Amino acid sequence: MPSTSASTRIHNFSAGPAMLPLPVLEQAQRDLVSLPGVGMSVLEISHRSKTFEDLLDTAIADIRGLAGIPPHYKVLMLQGGATLQFSMVPMNLLGAGAAADYIDTGSWADKAIKEAKKVGTVNVVATTKADQYARIPRQDELKLTAGAAYVHMTTNNTIEGTEWKAPPNVGSVPLVADASSNIFSGPIDVGRFGIVYAGAQKNLGPSGVTLVIIREDLIGRAGPTVPIMLDYKIHAENNSLYNTPNTFGIYILGLTAKWLKSQGGLEAVARNNQRKAGKLYAEIDRTGFYRGTAQKDSRSLMNITFRLGSEALEKIFEKDATAAGLDGLKGHRSVGGMRASIYNAFPEAGVDALVDFMREFERKNG
Ligand SMILES: *Cc1c(COP(=O)(O)O)cnc(C)c1O
Repeated sequence: MPSTSASTRIHNFSAGPAMLPLPVLEQAQRDLVSLPGVGMSVLEISHRSKTFEDLLDTAIADIRGLAGIPPHYKVLMLQGGATLQFSMVPMNLLGAGAAADYIDTGSWADKAIKEAKKVGTVNVVATTKADQYARIPRQDELKLTAGAAYVHMTTNNTIEGTEWKAPPNVGSVPLVADASSNIFSGPIDVGRFGIVYAGAQKNLGPSGVTLVIIREDLIGRAGPTVPIMLDYKIHAENNSLYNTPNTFGIYILGLTAKWLKSQGGLEAVARNNQRKAGKLYAEIDRTGFYRGTAQKDSRSLMNITFRLGSEALEKIFEKDATAAGLDGLKGHRSVGGMRASIYNAFPEAGVDALVDFMREFERKNG
């Protein structure tokens, strides 16, 4: 039973909070007033109830299955967004006398670096800032520190439109990844990471939940002055129920995990994302009227950034696109240009609509 409002939905290219799968929204809408078999809204039940614990455990089990998360990792559902992880990671892992390595690939990486510096010693072991963050550094550019507490990376640079094609080799040092904008956009080898964290609002669910996948040996390292809410250990010991979590967000995240499974798992999701992004990049590269801002080997499948010949033309593009029902294409205010965010839930028909629009816009303005 499609909801009456589904037919009025426009093409939403927002970078985050971003589109959710329509079946997820429809199920949430159907069950909002009374969860089947429960007789109460998911918004009204105790986080200590059996119903909610089952919801949480099922969401975690589905995420574990989806990503093949090894048993010696914990899956946590925290709050404070990816931004709080910028602080929480060093507060837990960067002890006195230790140093952490950071790879600077964009604005979010830079923010993570600034927060870590408040906690301890940080080595920026590579940066592509001089190239306007248009590329991912090569392995041979990383000046890794022997004995570092961890290496921090940003798997997808949401603002600049670049993405690592494979994690860097960091030896036995724990690799910590901010995967907010491409988590579960394809298979992930969790075993290569110490921590993977992601704000949910791009690829997993609504804002207000942060997924943290953490290797067990990295839990319990926070010093005595770290506030209890910022200690991974307390959340791991309490299955993310130390205090009241974002119950509704976790519910939606659970529905999204089931939807990802129904797509055929992360391999199939990756194929869809490659096809969708491939269509857009092909259009960008077709004549030179549009110019992709990321170097080709570093292009993101999630955030597709491009420019037109002038800022004036970009303004017209954005205005006409919005009028045509293509919303959210304006690039981040810090870099300008255009950005089409096409996360997992973004339908291929929306990509086709944008490609058609771009063709027509070029015909009229080229
Ligand atoms: C959106 C984003 C963030 C910020 O996430 P919040 O949940 O708003 O704190 C951090 N890192 C990356 C890569 C992002 O895309």
